[in-house]
Amino acid sequence: MRKRSKKTPEQFKELVCWWAEKINVQPVQIRLQKMSRKWASCSPSGWVCFSTDLLQEKQDFQEYVIVHELLHLQVPNHGKLFKSLLNAYLPGWEKRKHQTEMHRT
Ligand SMILES: [Zn+2]
Repeated sequence: MRKRSKKTPEQFKELVCWWAEKINVQPVQIRLQKMSRKWASCSPSGWVCFSTDLLQEKQDFQEYVIVHELLHLQVPNHGKLFKSLLNAYLPGWEKRKHQTEMHRT
């Protein structure tokens, strides 16, 4: 098990930008804010928002949430295409999943 990473918001956003470039999406805005019931959310207009609780999580999980959310800028649902993209970018992503429900879409 990897140790908890405790990122600063700046480091976390850098990780988001790194993945955005890899996935080839351009989020209009990346926000970090307190969210009590979700890990992340996004809007069709292109902003993505992440819970500040994520800063305390392991990087494996952070990346899962980041990639999941960024992929929603391309695919708004959790259908076949979404799953195959997730598999392409994060092989074995199921292992990274958290018990907590990530968001409601
Ligand atoms: Zn989703």
